[in-house]
Amino acid sequence: MSAEIIDGKAFAKQLRERVGAISADFAAAAGRKPGLAVVLVGEDPASSVYVRNKGKATIGANMESFEHRLPAETSQEELLALVDRLNADPAVDGILVQLPLPSHIHEQTVLTRISPDKDVDGFHPVNAGRLATGLDGFVPCTPLGCLMLLKDRIGHLAGEQAVVVGRSNIVGKPMAQLLLRESCTVTITHSRTRDLFEHLRTADIVVAAVGIPRMIQGEWLKPGATVIDVGINRTEAGLVGDVDFDSAVKVAGAITPVPGGVGPMTIACLIRNTAVAAHRNAGIALDR
Ligand code: NDP
Repeated sequence: MSAEIIDGKAFAKQLRERVGAISADFAAAAGRKPGLAVVLVGEDPASSVYVRNKGKATIGANMESFEHRLPAETSQEELLALVDRLNADPAVDGILVQLPLPSHIHEQTVLTRISPDKDVDGFHPVNAGRLATGLDGFVPCTPLGCLMLLKDRIGHLAGEQAVVVGRSNIVGKPMAQLLLRESCTVTITHSRTRDLFEHLRTADIVVAAVGIPRMIQGEWLKPGATVIDVGINRTEAGLVGDVDFDSAVKVAGAITPVPGGVGPMTIACLIRNTAVAAHRNAGIALDR
């Protein structure tokens, strides 16, 4: 038996097209396009590629892209002043500060300066609190993309046993909150968890966000489980996930590949969040 391969690339393309249509309707109603501002400090090559791809996806979805590339020696005060200007700019619906920031800048100080209503990355503590308490807010893009893939494959998730491996603020914790919101029974595991495989053995849903190449073995999985691999690890063998794909594909019911699984969903969810922000900021209802 071999698992169904979940095609995140195709799903993400459809989502980007849907958002493009929503943005065109928004522009007709509001007299302006939704706008996303992306801020990059320094010249980290991977970050530079991410920012370029985000800009392309934004324009491709009929939105305005405002790119701010600042030198590595930019001071925290200068960066905060830019965030303040973007917060006040009515053409900007969403603000994203690309991480990591240079070490002389305190990330949390910058992230909490972004207006929660323009925080399309969903990293502001106010949005984390909204997610945890069931209020409308912005949900971090990667876990949101994972949830969309899970719902597309499984339908209703209520009652499913879900194990999230990893507890970071940007993936593991919001993922667990989203699964809880869907009425899954959620277990969060991390580096201090004893006998990880004992938890995985009973999991209908596994979301792996660890950062260790091919750590999760097929033999640890429940036969038929749906496995979402968030990991992006650069190895000599190329890009690999946190799940050992070759052994997992023989046991799982469905699995995301790396690359081509969760990765493309992140940017698609970013532009979706920007479209939602634009509607909220302009007071226009969004009913699809
Ligand atoms: P972090 O390094 O912030 O968190 C990793 C988590 O894994 C931590 O909670 C850590 O536990 C846990 N962990 C470490 N070792 C083990 C272990 N042996 N057993 C169980 N848990 C363990 O990573 P991120 O959440 O930011 O990212 C995770 C992966 O996802 C990375 O490969 C990253 O590249 C990828 N990623 C992909 C994205 C995409 O768009 N597809 C977006 C974001 C990330 P503890 O808290 O105890 O240290």
